[in-house]
Amino acid sequence: MNKHIETKITLLGAGPGDPELLTLKGVKALQTADVVLYDALTNEALLAHAPEAAIKVYVGKRSGEHSHSQGAINQLMIDYALNYGHVVRLKGGDPFVFGRGYEELDFAASYAVPVTVIPGISSSIGVPALQQIPVTHRGLSESFWVITGTTTNGQISDDIYQAANSNATVVILMGLKKLAQIVSVFKAAGKAQLPAAVVQNGSTENEKLVVATVEQLQAKVEEAQIEAPALLIFGEVVSLHPSFKNIIKQYAAIS
Ligand code: SAH
Repeated sequence: MNKHIETKITLLGAGPGDPELLTLKGVKALQTADVVLYDALTNEALLAHAPEAAIKVYVGKRSGEHSHSQGAINQLMIDYALNYGHVVRLKGGDPFVFGRGYEELDFAASYAVPVTVIPGISSSIGVPALQQIPVTHRGLSESFWVITGTTTNGQISDDIYQAANSNATVVILMGLKKLAQIVSVFKAAGKAQLPAAVVQNGSTENEKLVVATVEQLQAKVEEAQIEAPALLIFGEVVSLHPSFKNIIKQYAAIS
């Protein structure tokens, strides 16, 4: 009765938001999708690559309302794969950078459903790059950390304390609501004058950027009414951004 179906799952990184920042391999996977399960932070324009007949299901968790738990998403993914064939699980950025991608891979493995992972451009590197802020730069930064501002217990990661005491570039995801606390960690590490940036909705038309010293960051973020999704960048590399040079000039003029 059913046509022969080939059960498989592709965990696909959608990139930071701009639909053109999807890999060619990602486009090809979508073209052969029977079902697409997509998240809140993926651009719906990407669904146009999937066949018209493919089933497209939004499984995002928009802030506040949890429409689908991770367990429900895992189960849905398997049910669709067993019943329809190729499920493309479209996830914001890269599936393995705070994307819970491995949990989905692991769940699929427990049903012996084959999974292919297609990496995506993570917002953690891609969004700074689009602002022409390199995460490493000779003489300024020898490494970078990508840390969560919201761990499973709701607290900032302890790694932020260590990172703030290093010379590394520190990129913090899911940290906007904890900005005051994060700023105080950097200040306690003697970094009040460290250049920092906050980028909201990087690579999309709603993109907003704030560049400031750690000391001034929170006031500027409030003034600009920055909202999630946003990421924080702390490090000397932010001084390479042209607007930081202007800030230093203004600062020198008033002090
Ligand atoms: N897997 C994703 C990250 C998921 S966690 C990736 O690799 O990008 C979600 C967090 O990522 C958001 O809270 C925000 O901090 C950050 N983020 C995702 N897309 C973003 C964007 N376009 N601009 C700024 N921050 C973004």
